[in-house]
Amino acid sequence: MKRRAFLRSALAAAATAAIPQQHLLAALYQPLRQDVPDIPAVTGDGRELTLRGRDIAELGARLRGHLLLAGDDGYEDARQILNPSFDKRPALIARVAGAADVRAAVDFARDHGGLLLAVKCGGHSFSGASTCDRGMMIDLSPFRNVRVDPAARRAWVTGGSLLGHVDHETMAYGLVAPFGTVSHTGVGGLVTQGGFGRLGRRFGLSIDNLESVQVVTADGRLLHASAEENENLFWGVRGGGGNFGVVTNFEFRLHPLQQKVVGGRIMFPLEVARDALAMYADYGAEMPDELYADLSVTLPPGGQPGVVGFSVCYSGPAGDAEKALAPIRALGKPLSDDIKAVDYVALQRSGDIDDPRATGIYLKSGFLASLSPAVAEIVAGGLEGHPERVTRVAFQHSGGAIGRVDPLATAFAQRDAKYNMLGITGWRYGPDANAKAHMDYMRGFWKDIEPHTHGFYTADMVPDVSQQEIQANYRANHERLVAVKNRYDPTNLFRLNANVKPTVKA
Ligand code: FAD
Repeated sequence: MKRRAFLRSALAAAATAAIPQQHLLAALYQPLRQDVPDIPAVTGDGRELTLRGRDIAELGARLRGHLLLAGDDGYEDARQILNPSFDKRPALIARVAGAADVRAAVDFARDHGGLLLAVKCGGHSFSGASTCDRGMMIDLSPFRNVRVDPAARRAWVTGGSLLGHVDHETMAYGLVAPFGTVSHTGVGGLVTQGGFGRLGRRFGLSIDNLESVQVVTADGRLLHASAEENENLFWGVRGGGGNFGVVTNFEFRLHPLQQKVVGGRIMFPLEVARDALAMYADYGAEMPDELYADLSVTLPPGGQPGVVGFSVCYSGPAGDAEKALAPIRALGKPLSDDIKAVDYVALQRSGDIDDPRATGIYLKSGFLASLSPAVAEIVAGGLEGHPERVTRVAFQHSGGAIGRVDPLATAFAQRDAKYNMLGITGWRYGPDANAKAHMDYMRGFWKDIEPHTHGFYTADMVPDVSQQEIQANYRANHERLVAVKNRYDPTNLFRLNANVKPTVKA
């Protein structure tokens, strides 16, 4: 709803007509628009329903943020997520300003037949889970704040914040929590599903550094969850994604980190792919925890020559970096090499995408406990380029501290993974793009890879994963996840995620 326009006109009217102050304040908190039409919508389980205009107006009045309907200023921007292939139109978008707004939106969705509900933080979902057609989107993007207590080495981060916001605030004190590699990714989606990144081998996944969370659950309560309080909810939120509610606050433990690490990219010609994969298979599993190295093999569009690259971050003493990097440098003469002492926050921004919505993206992914010669050969010998797409295989480095956590200690079960392998296609998004052909290519390529993988990272999930595969992916943690789901979301209000199906009748 056009709240700003409303405020402007209310204030202008007040100035001319000299409305007594108590009336002006009353006007500010009244329903913002009286003429809201009834709107057709859909519930989470696919039933059609009509939302009454009066109820919608009341919800708008309950929010400190904005409620947007189709046609309102800001609606077209707010409904978008990063991947332009998902072009959905929610019936309502609640742009929430705080936890009270989240509670109001969740109450509304639950009390209106279990309205289809999507939750958007950074909007990076590969499965389009943060938007929906004809349901409600809770858009957390106005709800961004980071508070740091340097003495206690803690950071409190609100549910709509982006990774770069946290790095920026904590590194001002030489403190850090481990996050992902692209700074415009949302804390909300990344941290509830795991959180792999440049410091993961040293400090673990993002979830391993959580002290507590606050969650708005399906019944509209705001719950504090930690190892001592609501411990099953705390366990489930660390790897179970958005299944149990909307996390409005994350409390992280922080680690000291020097301002500069040694990082950057080194690129080699495609001819070294076999040697690079063989080296990575051995050394990748053994590297010091301070070294993080992602390997990628990329075939660019337009027939450009392919490249093999390592994106690295060495966070130990600078003097030890070259020794740690020696096996990578020994691969031969690089095409380019920008690895140097670099500000950590700048390195965290170095993979940011200027215009992400210009590119359609599809990926397949799976965890590897080891990088076998068979997988290396499929990558080195079987990847096919295309004039109109980027074709890439990448390995996000795992192991180290990530693998030293008991698989049952958090809902994230894949602790034995040494690599998160991704097969990615990207094409210029537009009506003429042959998206299906690019997606089909990757599906075909992945058929040969999949038997070598064991499970997948839910944050890299695409829509064509079956419910059976999702359930199996939670491994031995699935049963406990169902119990937590039954307790906190028995009607499956929060279903747009790697969904844990409740088994109780609500
Ligand atoms: P959104 O699309 O906003 O949300 C994704 C899911 O999270 C939805 O199901 C949503 O309901 C849920 N959710 C969002 N906020 C909350 C909240 N506050 N409470 C509860 N549920 C919530 N992952 C890594 O681990 N490491 C990486 O280095 C990495 N790099 C990436 C780079 C790019 C360019 C992209 C597109 C993705 C990357 N990912 C990485 C995957 C990323 O973690 C997921 O896409 C994640 O879902 C992004 O979070 P988001 O908040 O931006 O997503």
